[in-house]
Order: sequence, then structure tokens, then C-alpha cells
Amino acid sequence: MFRGHRVIGVACVLSLAACAPAGTASSSPAPRASTTPAPAKSPVETGPPGVKPRKGEVRPIPRTGGLPPVISSIPTRRKVVFLTIDDGWEQDPGFVRQVRDQRIPITAFAMRDAVEAKGTPDESGGEARYVGAGKWGYFRQLRDAGVPVENHTLTHPNLRLLAYPAQRGELCGASKLIAKEVGTRPTLFRPPFGNYNTDTLRAAKSCGMSAVLLWTATVQPGGKIAYQVPDKKLRPGDILLLHFRPNLARDFRVLVNKIKRRGYELGDLQAYLEAALPR
Ligand SMILES: [Zn+2]
Repeated sequence: MFRGHRVIGVACVLSLAACAPAGTASSSPAPRASTTPAPAKSPVETGPPGVKPRKGEVRPIPRTGGLPPVISSIPTRRKVVFLTIDDGWEQDPGFVRQVRDQRIPITAFAMRDAVEAKGTPDESGGEARYVGAGKWGYFRQLRDAGVPVENHTLTHPNLRLLAYPAQRGELCGASKLIAKEVGTRPTLFRPPFGNYNTDTLRAAKSCGMSAVLLWTATVQPGGKIAYQVPDKKLRPGDILLLHFRPNLARDFRVLVNKIKRRGYELGDLQAYLEAALPR
């Protein structure tokens, strides 16, 4: 179940009218003379939709041993890819506007120490600063733009080095914090560095996760895609990993244009997972 806890998603499923693209009646700046009340501008109307799977498009992902599946890509032949963004060290307000105004579907994986600016920022992608970090308000703004805020631990450890109770503390602690600060409970977990073991999957299940989400390609500063496959091509169902870094809005423009030029659409990850993991 990926949508049940999200008011935004449920409302969108229940009311197609509320999912109308931006630019319909609610965005008209003209004053209204009639007594008809203007439609309220809600997160549903401005939220990023992404393309939804067609009937029968997605192959089911098997669950093994009752544990949450580990997913690197979505099993589809459609030219659709999914954008995910990790950590939260850098909080560029321009990026929230971009996601909201251009209705770009992304999934955020928040990590406490990044969001709250504790410890040392990860500089692997270039210069790292704490612009605006230290506040969960940024993730509440993303939530209001229709972005699911998911779980990426409290402290970003290599989970393979931790025993089960410590892993569970990282996962359940982050979910509880996100529920308190953002108001939605995560259902997806992304392990730091992609490192996990069976204890991670057990902890993920115990903390209410439906799936453990990896990725097929990372996006570097400048919008350059670093593929994990030798032919360096996007593939249907790819999950791309970005980080909340300086200049994210600019890099994102480059990336989204590149994806579209190659004939790919941006997908609604939650809708695709729901189709791939039938109850
Ligand atoms: Zn991370």
C-alpha cells in the first residue's frame, strides 16, 4: 500500500477533476464576477502527477520470504523513468518552485542528519553547503508540492556493519521523525550507499516499509547521468538517483530536458510500485 497514508495521493485517485493539469480554471488570475467560488488551490491541483502505468503494463515483482522486495528498476517496456532525490544537505528554494510549477514527479528520501545539518555534509558530488538546511520545513514544502517524503535513515550508516537492533533503530526512528515533522509516514526505504543485508529487510518490514528502493543510474552535478550499464543508455523503468545539492534546480532543468529529448516520460513511482506489487 503506497497511497493509503497520503491524503494527496488518495484525493487524486478519487477525483480525476482534482488532478487536472495546471493552467485550468484555478490558475486564472482574472477576477470573478459570478458568485461561483473559485476552486481552492490545493496540493492536489499543483502536485506533480507523472505518467501512470497502463493496465497490464507492469510485470509483478515477486516477494520472497514475506520480506519487502529490493527494487532497482520498474519492470516495464514503456519509455518511462523515475526521479528520486536523497539526503537533504542543501535546500534550494528554487527547486521546490520548479517541482511545483512544472509538475515534475519526484520521490524524496530524507535523512535526518542531512535535513537537520548535523555532522559533515557528503561532498562526493562537489561543493556541499548548508543553505537553508536544519529545517524540516523544506520537506513540508515538498510534501505540499505533491512529493512523497520517504526514509533514508537517521545517520546514514553502512547498515551492513550494524546488528539488527541498531538497523531497526535507524529505520523506525527515521519513519517516526518524518511522520512527526512532515505528517506522512514513509512506505519506502533507501539504504545509504545501497548497502543492506537480510537484517535490513527484516527491519524494513518491522518499520512498515513496503519496498527497499535502489537505483539504476546516478545523476552528477551538471545533470550528467552516470550509468551502471556499459551501453550508457536510459532503459525503460530506470530509477535515477540525485542528491539535494547546490544548483539542483539548474541541474534538474538539464536532466529533465535530456530525458525528454530521448523520448522518455517521467513516471509516478508510487503508482508504478502499486501496480508492480499487487496485494
Ligand atoms: Zn544518502
